[in-house]
Amino acid sequence: MSTNPLPLRFVKSAQRLTELPPTEREIAIVGRSNVGKSSLINALAARNGLAKVSKTPGRTQLLNLFELGDGATVVDLPGYGYAKVPGRVRDTWAAMIEGYLTGRDQLRLALVLVDAEVGPTALDLTTLEWLRHIGLDVRVVATKQDKVKSSKRAKRKQELAAACGLDTSDVLWVSAAKDVNIGELRARIREWLSP
Ligand code: GDP
Repeated sequence: MSTNPLPLRFVKSAQRLTELPPTEREIAIVGRSNVGKSSLINALAARNGLAKVSKTPGRTQLLNLFELGDGATVVDLPGYGYAKVPGRVRDTWAAMIEGYLTGRDQLRLALVLVDAEVGPTALDLTTLEWLRHIGLDVRVVATKQDKVKSSKRAKRKQELAAACGLDTSDVLWVSAAKDVNIGELRARIREWLSP
């Protein structure tokens, strides 16, 4: 399985499910604002600026589609849980994310990003529980691995996975900043999106 950069091509941003173009196969990337989602997408594609690395958390409020080719698509969902966003706007986001995740037939899996240093937040856990409840296949990726001291990593890996209800080996730890496990994640994404 090739670990070359994913040739992701931005297709469009949409506000709701009905605005999305048809695709063959999709995976969705989910996570709270500031978890490192944009940085990770850029690292997967080895293209800085593909997904905007926002200085203001919560700015990415749309469903962003990136085509990998041959109908395989990565969907970047709006980051949830940014405290400074008014409740009404938050509700709109929730409805958008929920509408997409429950209504997209070709969606194969949700990749839930959890900050390795912070660990799963209450909202991360609620999201995980809800994704499992709707029967979607879920994988957890811990971001910003480099922010956890190497001496503390083994313990943190256990704790983070256990909090998510997973075995330690089920969580892939990555660092977009230090290029840790980015190749492995590319290979897995190719596999999940294979015909
Ligand atoms: P998003 O809101 O989830 O799209 O998060 P961003 O990609 O914009 O990243 C949020 C912040 O975390 C930025 O300041 C990034 O530079 C930082 N960040 C993202 N990935 C990493 C990483 O792998 N290591 C470290 N140390 N910082 C990161």
